[in-house]
Amino acid sequence: MQMTQALSAGPHQLTPADQALVDGVLAGRRRALAKAITLIESTRCDHQERAQELLAALLPYTGKAIRIGISGVPGAGKSTFIEALGNYLIDHGHRLAVLAVDPSSSISGGSILGDKTRMETLCQREEAFIRPSPSAGSLGGVAEKTREAMLLCEAAGFDVIIVETVGVGQSETTVAGMVDLFVLLQLPNAGDDLQAIKKGIVEIADLVVINKADIDPQAAQVTRAQWNQALHLLRHASPNWSPPVLSLSALKKEGLAEFWAQVQNYREALTPTGEFEARRRHQAVDWMWQLIHLGLNQYFRRHPAVREALPGLIQAVEAGRVTPAAAAYGLLKFLNPES
Ligand code: GDP
Repeated sequence: MQMTQALSAGPHQLTPADQALVDGVLAGRRRALAKAITLIESTRCDHQERAQELLAALLPYTGKAIRIGISGVPGAGKSTFIEALGNYLIDHGHRLAVLAVDPSSSISGGSILGDKTRMETLCQREEAFIRPSPSAGSLGGVAEKTREAMLLCEAAGFDVIIVETVGVGQSETTVAGMVDLFVLLQLPNAGDDLQAIKKGIVEIADLVVINKADIDPQAAQVTRAQWNQALHLLRHASPNWSPPVLSLSALKKEGLAEFWAQVQNYREALTPTGEFEARRRHQAVDWMWQLIHLGLNQYFRRHPAVREALPGLIQAVEAGRVTPAAAAYGLLKFLNPES
């Protein structure tokens, strides 16, 4: 009980500078928000402690936005779509934050939102906040920072949060695990549908969008029918929702109202049944476990006895002199010698 109280949201010890940052975020100031995100992205221990205090102070003001994940292969039109949708939503009275989870950023140091020429018109609008993917760390680390950045954006009053990711590998599942609604952005034809089915991505799609319908409307219709068929065979996590397939043109800004209407439909279908909130609750607990796994992993690898014994044991396992299980249990014992 004591621990819950100590860790829970509420009044915390903040330095005057951090209190000013909290106030700035709550006032919706983008500079303060950017600074707060920089603090949470920092790997310095003292910064991390301050970041956690900051998050605890802001936690009561989070949770009010709709969180949308958008995934698609490079060239599918993600940034064109997000820019068009963002402008549309701002024109309809919303405030929008765009964050990115880019698994390649940890390798190349680049990022999918790093290129400033992307989303040019959206960047210039007061009601938009655009943040590239943190470039340091593993996908797990990047995802953790993005989740926290999402909370800060909510505290700053952004009511639509978009998390963009590239359609490769684990990052899609990671993003689906932090949003209310996961959108697959697809190209007409090109066999993308089959690829996605193979990867098991279809199961996590709440909405499928066939972009670039302006190029060949007929091809877009064919792709749409294929997708409808594929989705028909699968069961969505919610019995109250069948993922719709839309075709639109991000470039021509056509189909945005229909897209947004489906987002509303989704929320309206899953809110009365409690599924909307349940998804967030599961995500929060999953997130806690992921952090525990990450932390345990780090603790294990940094443990002096483990570090000393590990190279020899790896060699012994490779040579078949020690079984993997014996090596693993032996190493784990170092964490608690009494067990
Ligand atoms: P991303 O890599 O997924 O972010 O893709 P981009 O948004 O950068 O788009 C890739 C290319 O496709 C750009 O040249 C866009 O202008 C173009 N594009 C995006 N959406 C559409 C669309 O709806 N119709 C057409 N014809 N081109 C589009």
